Amino acid sequence: GVLPSAHMKKFKIVFLGDLGVGKTSIINQFMYGTFDPNHQPTIGIDFLSKTMYIDDRTFRLQLWDTAGQERFRSLIPNYIRDCTVAVIVFDITQRSSFLSLDKWVEDVKTERGGDVVIAIVANKSDLLEKRAVSYEEAEEKAKNLNVLFVEVSAKTGNNVKLLFGTLSKYLPGMQ
Ligand code: GDP
Ligand code: MG
Repeated sequence: GVLPSAHMKKFKIVFLGDLGVGKTSIINQFMYGTFDPNHQPTIGIDFLSKTMYIDDRTFRLQLWDTAGQERFRSLIPNYIRDCTVAVIVFDITQRSSFLSLDKWVEDVKTERGGDVVIAIVANKSDLLEKRAVSYEEAEEKAKNLNVLFVEVSAKTGNNVKLLFGTLSKYLPGMQ
């Protein structure tokens, strides 16, 4: 049956990662199926919400974008504090954003301990000719950190639905 949204289970997903890796673009692709190469950094929107229907279950995902806060790292713990999932994005064409992953994962673990689902997302898989981090290296890193790994393109939409479907399977009570 249809539940009023106020009664629906809600899960908070926070998007982390260096400025420019594509956090906002991934959220836009998932929410609206669009990609805008010229979009301006969003200011003033805390989160977007999407109702999911998986295996006869209905629940709501709240997607929290850390738009603009990347440079103000001291604000980030407030976003992480009560999240169920942390999605840490890097750009496969920017090695520095890959090297930042350890720090982002550490921030999440410091705030949440083990009580959180963490996924590393390799974005911009459409830019293969500019790739600076191999799929294998990123997958190995995720394995060593014991976190989920998905490679996506916010531009083409490749694997974006798969990412959210995968995350949904790891939500508490969804197994
Ligand atoms: P954020 O700072 O992490 O939110 O990153 P944005 O979503 O603002 O994206 C930063 C830049 O990368 C923008 O110019 C986007 O158009 C571009 N971008 C984001 N995702 C992709 C992608 O999958 N492929 C390509 N080619 N460009 C992307
Ligand atoms: Mg952004």
